[in-house]
This record gives sequence, structure tokens and C-alpha cells, in this order.
Amino acid sequence: MSAVWIENEVSTFGNTAKIERETHKLEKRLCRQVGQAIIDYNMIEEGDRVMVCMSGGKDSYGMLDILLKMQQRAPVQFELVAVNLDQKQPGFPDHILPEYLKSMGVEFHIETQDTYSIVKRNIPEGKTMCSLCSRLRRGILYKVARELKCNKLALGHHRDDMLQTFFLNMFFGGKLKGMPPKLTSDNGEFIVIRPLAYVAEKDLVRWAEHRQFPIIPCSLCGSQENLQRKQASKMLKEWEKQYPGRAETMFTALKNVVPSHLMDSKLHDFKNLKTTGVPDEDGDKAFDEEPFSPPTFSGLPAMQVVTL
Ligand code: SF4
Repeated sequence: MSAVWIENEVSTFGNTAKIERETHKLEKRLCRQVGQAIIDYNMIEEGDRVMVCMSGGKDSYGMLDILLKMQQRAPVQFELVAVNLDQKQPGFPDHILPEYLKSMGVEFHIETQDTYSIVKRNIPEGKTMCSLCSRLRRGILYKVARELKCNKLALGHHRDDMLQTFFLNMFFGGKLKGMPPKLTSDNGEFIVIRPLAYVAEKDLVRWAEHRQFPIIPCSLCGSQENLQRKQASKMLKEWEKQYPGRAETMFTALKNVVPSHLMDSKLHDFKNLKTTGVPDEDGDKAFDEEPFSPPTFSGLPAMQVVTL
């Protein structure tokens, strides 16, 4: 009898220790990836006042959590202001975010604007409401950023969002265009940053479970989910399952663009191309197959050569 107790104790202890080790590794990875993205794109600079856009989903909670850790150790001083827009969707639990943000001791602002009614009034029943809704949200967030004197807006999009966007633009928009880690806002007034650019969604899921974030469901508006994005997400997950490491390799490709090997004359001057007489490794190899060299991206697993 006592042996069973001891065995159980040992095995529980072993499991707990393993979970702690894994969680510690996860935290280190999240901090490393966010730190690397910030460095690579010079996302945060001395004196910045960053508005952290909080939706109440796992990604924005994770972003704020990691940015607060970064703030402690960063070589530059910057301020964070968490902002949530309460769009008055039916059933939106408006106490959750203020309570959480208060408990974190972070400066925050909740902006309440009934965009839900405006969208409902203007979009016929059954039609997707997202484009008007997000346009209204964007305008309000810019106004709030201005009032709060923030110069940067941080959004919680992660690596998998960026890959999905890339494929959606290619499949449905006929463009090689992704989601940038850093860009000026469309009104030219702010810098928009995505500090989770290098973070995989599955890590954010695990981090949210570990930290027990009080997640607010994202289906309160009753809008149909974006079917195309869902399909792109499913496709990427299936590829990743079949060929582990593929998502990371594709993501690395977004950082290694070779304009001369695409077909956009705005990026490469095909029309006025002249021979140079000088050998060029990147020149055309005529009939030879292009060799696939391993990507160079920090934190990447070893390159896997797969047969298509
Ligand atoms: S899913 Fe709902 S809240 Fe989100 S953009 Fe669409 S309409 Fe707005």
C-alpha cells in the first residue's frame, strides 16, 4: 500500500517537474522570439509610448504579458498602455479586462463605442460585417492613440496569422503580400508593430493555458467566421502535421525574397537587363535544378528535405 503511495508521489512529482521545465522553456522561447523580432525590425525605441491593442483573446493577452517582461530587461525605456475597445457586442463581459489589467498594474484605457449597432444598422442580415466593423475600429483606435499620446500601436498577430495572410493574398488576391512586422498606419500617423511575428500560435495557446488568461470569446458579434482564413489555417496545420517544420521554413521564406527570380518588373529591371561577363552565383542555372539550401533563421529546426 505504502509503495503505491510513494510511486504515485514520485510519478506526480516527476510530471510536475517536467511541466515546470517545459513551461520555463516556453517562457524563454517566447521572450527570445519577441526580443529577436523587436531587434530585427527595430520595433521599439527609446521613449516610445506603445498602445497595446487588447481584444481579450489569447494572442493579445500573451503579447501584453511578454512585452511587460521585455520592459523590465530592455536596454531602452518605453511605456506601454493597454487599450481595449468595447464595441458593445451583446454579452461582452466588460468587467473582465479592466479587472485583469488592474491586477497586472499596467496603465490601461477602455474605450466604449457602440460600433455594433452601427454595423447592424448598415449591413443587411446575413452579410459579413467585418469590413465595416474593422474600419470603424481602426478609426477609433487611431483617435485613442492620438489622445493617449502613443506613437506606436502593437497588434497581437503571430507567425501563423502572417502565413495565412500570405496565402490568402496569393490564392484570392493574386499578390505576393503578407502581413508586415512593422509598417506605418494607413493614415501615416503611427507605426504599427507586431511583436509576436516570430511566435507560433500553438505556443500562445499553451502560454494562455499556463497563465490562465480570462479569455473573452470572439464570437459575440455573431458574424460568420472568415471561411477563407479558416481554410488557410487548416491547410497550414495539415502541412505542418505531415511535414513538421514546414511552417517555419515557409515563414523564413518571407524573409528571403529573391526579386530576380520572381516576375515583378517593379522589383527587378528585367527589360534593361544586360550581361556583365562576371560569374554570378545567383544567375540563371539554365537546365540545372535549383539546390535547396537550409534556411538561416534563429530557432529553426534542422532543414527537412521532403519529397513533394
Ligand atoms: S468578427 Fe465581429 S468583431 Fe470581428 S471584425 Fe468581424 S464583425 Fe467585427
